Amino acid sequence: MKKKRVLVTGGSGFLGSHLCERLLEEGHEVLCVDNFYTGRKDSILHLMDNPHFEIIRHDVTFPLYVEADEIYNLACPASPIHYQFDPVQTTKTSVHGAINMLGLAKRIKAKIFQASTSEVYGDPAVHPQTEDYWGNVNPIGIRACYDEGKRCAETLFFDYHRQHGLRIKVGRIFNTYGPRMAMEDGRVVSNFVVQALRGEDITVYGKGEQTRSFCYVDDLVEGIFRLMEHTPDEFTGPVNLGNPLEFSILELAQEVIDLTGSVSRIVFKPLPSDDPMQRKPDISLAKRALGWEPRTPLREGLVKTVEYFQRVLKTA
Ligand code: NAD
Ligand code: UDP
Ligand code: UDP
Repeated sequence: MKKKRVLVTGGSGFLGSHLCERLLEEGHEVLCVDNFYTGRKDSILHLMDNPHFEIIRHDVTFPLYVEADEIYNLACPASPIHYQFDPVQTTKTSVHGAINMLGLAKRIKAKIFQASTSEVYGDPAVHPQTEDYWGNVNPIGIRACYDEGKRCAETLFFDYHRQHGLRIKVGRIFNTYGPRMAMEDGRVVSNFVVQALRGEDITVYGKGEQTRSFCYVDDLVEGIFRLMEHTPDEFTGPVNLGNPLEFSILELAQEVIDLTGSVSRIVFKPLPSDDPMQRKPDISLAKRALGWEPRTPLREGLVKTVEYFQRVLKTA
């Protein structure tokens, strides 16, 4: 394969750090762009000595002038507590960030990937979610800065494609977990694992009947990589990337307790508003177009995640 210069925005975040690693393994030059809002230098420390890896501290809501063959646009906080902390900045990151990265892609004629999300389906009335479902998002709710920002980013991607002939790839990512999630990230898997390891109460929001489908990070990165590197230019997506095995949040809590042998108790906290009740990707398109499906069962992925947080807690 031809060696490429690849720009990864959000490259020091959870998914971004794994993606940078993967692209370096493939022999590419990687330029990581991040403002370190939720990303951490720790996540990419092991790549710093690699002569093919470079970092720029930069906020994608401002223009960026660099040269690259490909762009993976991942910059955006993904955990509700972080994206709701400064919701206006979240919308700016998705929308202005998309405009700047698309403007950059247009100037340098680069192929560009957008990390979209299952949140474009909102609280879905169709189950499982297929790509042709238009979604059910509350446009004025507390999740809208993220959901609508990502929806607008998709619109921009498809308009730059139609209007300027840009080569785009849009992946709708479903809940993903694994090593290098931040300890204080606030997402459910990291919360439950850290709480279980510390013997603290496990905080289930609502009755825990809401469902999610959890994809292990290595599987997800493989999906993104195949979408970008192994599909023809005509294939733009959007394509669902996630694990179709669905669990209730209560089942997840019990699985984590079981796996860690923790003494933690489950406690119930209020359900945040607009929290989607169910989520499960239909991945028929990904199977067909990318020859991809997740391989890692939840328990196996959780074991690796638990081992990771055990190491982190030991040195914390
Ligand atoms: P993360 O919060 O760990 O990483 C996001 C990264 O983007 C961080 O390094 C952060 O510092 C950086 N960032 C945020 N705003 C920025 C800005 N304005 N300029 C430059 N950098 C900025 O989240 P993640 O889980 O790694 O998610 C990565 C991408 O994938 C996000 O776009 C997210 O919306 C999308 N996604 C993730 C999931 C998931 O389950 N992990 C699901 C759906 C979509
Ligand atoms: N842009 C950028 N880097 C580039 C080219 C463009 O960051 O190399 C940004 C710039 O802020 C611009 C935006 O992308 O406003 C959209 O670019 P486009 O060419 O689509 O439109 P313009 O606003 O330049 O007419
Ligand atoms: N959740 C929970 N306890 C926590 C964190 C999250 O019960 O400590 C629930 C949350 O209400 C949601 C699900 O777990 O129903 C997934 O939450 P997360 O923030 O990981 O992702 P998202 O809601 O964006 O899918």
